[in-house]
Amino acid sequence: MSFAGGLETLPRALAARLPAGSVELDARVTRLVPGRPWTLVWNRPGQPAQTETFAAVLLALPAAALAALAVGADGEHPLGGLGAIEYPPVSSLFLGFNRDQVTHPLDGFGLLIPPVEHRVPLGVLFNSTLFPGRAPAGHVALTVMTGGALRPELARLDDTALLTRVRGDLAEILGVGGEPVFVRSHVWPHAIPQYNLGYERFLDLIARTEADLPGLLVGGHIRDGISVPACLAAGEKLAARATS
Ligand SMILES: Cc1cc2nc3c(=O)[nH]c(=O)nc-3n(C[C@H](O)[C@H](O)[C@H](O)COP(=O)(O)OP(=O)(O)OC[C@H]3O[C@@H](n4cnc5c(N)ncnc54)[C@H](O)[C@@H]3O)c2cc1C
Repeated sequence: MSFAGGLETLPRALAARLPAGSVELDARVTRLVPGRPWTLVWNRPGQPAQTETFAAVLLALPAAALAALAVGADGEHPLGGLGAIEYPPVSSLFLGFNRDQVTHPLDGFGLLIPPVEHRVPLGVLFNSTLFPGRAPAGHVALTVMTGGALRPELARLDDTALLTRVRGDLAEILGVGGEPVFVRSHVWPHAIPQYNLGYERFLDLIARTEADLPGLLVGGHIRDGISVPACLAAGEKLAARATS
């Protein structure tokens, strides 16, 4: 599922339900000082640090941000060990084509490509089949994902180089011909944490830190699942813990 206006509809709707002035955008939390209440230090780019106090602190940050977070008067980094979580990059190339440039019927979700096939993309989503409004009439839209744990170097190619590399695969698998009429790309340098064997040590570190620092609660995709539904469920659980 998605939303007519894209996934950003969800955080916008959540923000609209909160009391006015309770959301600070473009603000980076740099330090937490435990206590009753907790003191939180944050700043916007190029602006002086601001300090506020809160009864509890919920962190739903990527691992690198948790690892870098100074906690305590002396600026310790209790979650520093999370910096070792493997987080390979993923790039997405959103491509628009005239319908007659693609011979495949695109009658599905898309495709995932196993490594044994030695292709450049990890997978391709058929966006214009999945959701209305993703391509104008007479056109189709595809998202090509590359990189990941097995071929991280591919995610770091620029648009032109990446397009050149995926073109052969798109032609062979989907019968795509010619230049795309629309290209938009995005790279997530640290896309998805890998729940590799031994990941328990990271979960243990989080649990120990919470136990040592009452009032601090950690969630987000490093803990209870990667998917958006898993993150939402974990967020609700975390909010219930905070309010209890
Ligand atoms: C390419 C790609 C495709 C995906 N596709 C799907 C999919 O199809 N379906 C699905 O269910 N899931 C998908 N996922 C996974 C899913 O999107 C993520 O796991 C999920 O969005 C993570 O949510 P989160 O709230 O934990 O983290 P994020 O959404 O990363 O939010 C963390 C937030 O913390 C902020 N932040 C960082 N540092 C600080 C700081 N110091 N102070 C304040 N704020 C800070 C960041 O700006 C960010 O807004 C995909 C992920 C990727 C990368």
